[in-house]
Amino acid sequence: MKRLLTGLLLATAGLTAQAATPAAPAKKPIAIAIHGGAGTISRANLSPEQEKAYHAKLQEALDAGYAVLDKGGRALDAVQAAILVMESSPLFNAGLGAVYNWDGEHELDASIMDGKTLNAGAVAGVKHVKHPILAAYKVMTDSPHVMLAGDGADAFAREEGLEMVDNHYFDTEFRKKALDKAKKAIQGTGYQARNYLAGDYKYGTVGAVALDEDGNLAAATSTGGMTAKRYGRIGDSPVIGAGTYAENGVCAVSATGHGEYFIRLNIAADICARVRYLHKSVKEAADEVIHGRLQKLGGTGGVIVLGADGSITQPFNTEGMYRGFKTRTQNQTLLYGN
Ligand code: ASP
Repeated sequence: MKRLLTGLLLATAGLTAQAATPAAPAKKPIAIAIHGGAGTISRANLSPEQEKAYHAKLQEALDAGYAVLDKGGRALDAVQAAILVMESSPLFNAGLGAVYNWDGEHELDASIMDGKTLNAGAVAGVKHVKHPILAAYKVMTDSPHVMLAGDGADAFAREEGLEMVDNHYFDTEFRKKALDKAKKAIQGTGYQARNYLAGDYKYGTVGAVALDEDGNLAAATSTGGMTAKRYGRIGDSPVIGAGTYAENGVCAVSATGHGEYFIRLNIAADICARVRYLHKSVKEAADEVIHGRLQKLGGTGGVIVLGADGSITQPFNTEGMYRGFKTRTQNQTLLYGN
């Protein structure tokens, strides 16, 4: 009886003590999601060593972006931090490791969008900026424009003091082989067949979307485009609304895939419009666009989408998509489909 009483007393004391402690304020959600391109990514095409290398680099990119958010930093800085890691790695078709165009050169595209202000910046067809994502950011912050292309974009980056490189800096043996293979497979001049680019000759574009503690969303994408593309071709990655879109309270999107289709379907903006006007979840909206409209038109690729509440979806209609996400409670990198 005595023991029971003591127990009861302790329990009551515990309850009182608990009730007296103010509940710790719930931490606001922070999240980053990334992709490293979609395409014929299957276990048959990747060795265990390659798999390991991709997982490790994706994790490094996630950690770099997440570290910014965890310190209370901006979503805009988090997406750039993640993309810088991938632009510096030859594993991805962005920065070092960018694909070759038909003429054996590299022309790079990148864009970034701030969900808070709807400001955006992009560069297309640059040949000498080491990190195109930094140039895109500078276009947004230091110019009155949204998109700069070609020589003008390179000149702007140089004036802004960004690191410039010879076009050969982007060379890799792996991408050169992909160009040779593509050229053999492509009949005639290479310009008549719309879908010749859709085969094995692409993938590796990188992208990131982030949500910071203040509820701001940002999205960014960087690419070398598609192997054997015609000189001057611009894909969806630098086109705001096609390859990249972010709006606070709605969603942030970065896309990868056959750019011509993503431009025609205005993929990133369409997903956000479904969330904004039809009140769809990011998963419903992205599935409708990727598995509905894109699929129907014959396009291939995928998107990473982050909702205002931190919800994440990463659908694709290819065999695989290099991807990952990190939140306060989750951390994952993935390569293949289910
Ligand atoms: N979307 C990119 C482009 O068309 C390529 C890719 O994502 O692999 O330039």
